[in-house]
Amino acid sequence: MSGHLVLLGPPGAGKGTLAKRLSQELGFLHLSTGDVLRAEVAQGTELGRQAKEYMDRGELVPDELILAMVRSRVAGEKKVLFDGFPRTLAQARGLEEFAPVSRVVFLSLAREEVIRRLSSRRVCLQCGALYNLLTQRPREDERCDHCGVKLVQRDDDKPEVIARRYDVYERESAPLVDFYRARGLLVEVDASLPPEEVYQRVRRALS
Ligand SMILES: [Zn+2]
Repeated sequence: MSGHLVLLGPPGAGKGTLAKRLSQELGFLHLSTGDVLRAEVAQGTELGRQAKEYMDRGELVPDELILAMVRSRVAGEKKVLFDGFPRTLAQARGLEEFAPVSRVVFLSLAREEVIRRLSSRRVCLQCGALYNLLTQRPREDERCDHCGVKLVQRDDDKPEVIARRYDVYERESAPLVDFYRARGLLVEVDASLPPEEVYQRVRRALS
């Protein structure tokens, strides 16, 4: 596939893993808004300084600023995989102006499954190792493989917090899904399937 790709999907759908593999195997430049923001701020560019002012005040960085940063980052790139961007319709429309996408992969996953997956995460507070009771179990029940201490659930991984995050995600992404579907660019892939099957379906959709 040539051209740019957008990945949409809720937290827990496996976007990160999929993005990494697609970039390695198909040669996409993997770009998340967070990475772009951090790089601009770290380099102290004019855009980065402006963005930091919003972030320091705990405000959202405005669409125009995000777009300007993405635009400067993708200049000259032929195959970019956008992960976590665009987040708003304004961003999607802005992106069309300088880097039209040729395909949008929407990883769909039901709210209950997102909650089930993410609330299974555990962390070791001693060494920081991450586990998932569904997919990456510790050897001993709920204890760290390295330190042997009892694993804990982070507040962010509590079901009620995940449910709120999902609702925010759904409110933000529904208009984007409609926007790209109307343009005939959307490919929906069921993210509840095993990861390898999800990957193969995405590959087929891109070929
Ligand atoms: Zn540990």
